Amino acid sequence: MTTVFTIEPISAFSDNYIWLLHNGTDAVVVDPGDAGPVLAALSERKLALKGILITHHHFDHVGGLEALTAATQCEVWGPENPKIIPVTHRVSEGDTLHILGQAFQVMEVPGHTLDHIAYQGEGILFCGDTLFAGGCGRVFEGTHPMMRNSLAKIRRLDPQTKIYCAHEYTLANLQFAVAADPKNTVLEERVTHCESLREQNIPTVPSILADEIATNPFLRWDAPSVMATLVAESKLIGSNSDDVFAGLRQWKDMF
Ligand code: ZN
Ligand code: FE
Repeated sequence: MTTVFTIEPISAFSDNYIWLLHNGTDAVVVDPGDAGPVLAALSERKLALKGILITHHHFDHVGGLEALTAATQCEVWGPENPKIIPVTHRVSEGDTLHILGQAFQVMEVPGHTLDHIAYQGEGILFCGDTLFAGGCGRVFEGTHPMMRNSLAKIRRLDPQTKIYCAHEYTLANLQFAVAADPKNTVLEERVTHCESLREQNIPTVPSILADEIATNPFLRWDAPSVMATLVAESKLIGSNSDDVFAGLRQWKDMF
């Protein structure tokens, strides 16, 4: 069953995107860090909030939860982390949920946080702070191998999957990507394209997984060009994929 819904970004804080899915009547939001902009978007479009999807416990993703559920009594799907309140459906790897007539599968993608999950629909992925356009989330609670494994799971999805991440970090991410993969001409084109989008104040997301695989260094731990840069910059801490990934992520942390 395919039901058509629209997906729009709601801007929150300085660089968060709260994704709004709606069919003209009913709406679902992903990671509402702030209730204000969500309530405004709902009333502007005359939508009823039916559900909320949460990817992880950070405040900029859950801060609007209490106010929104108090105002709408909507259902909330979220990770198995009791710290996130209120959640009506705790979900984990392989669970399926239905919103706006479409099935979504839950993927566990720990690394940025231990509770981080992503929601995969037909050709779309809501991945919170795990994979960003041109980058990935900081490894706060997990380990580098854990994060790489989570990104490897995402990398195996259909390359045409649209990646809906939770922040507009793209230009800064791409600056690092160029440092890590300087001879990547596809990346060069992406930088030009994203710069022109930002000049017009247009979001650079969602992106397409195939473009991430071609240009995002955090999906390119096994690309010889990325490995060569790490060697040249003395950032390589070992030669297996986890070492390459850790070397890259630690370099980006200080970049
Ligand atoms: Zn976060
Ligand atoms: Fe965040």
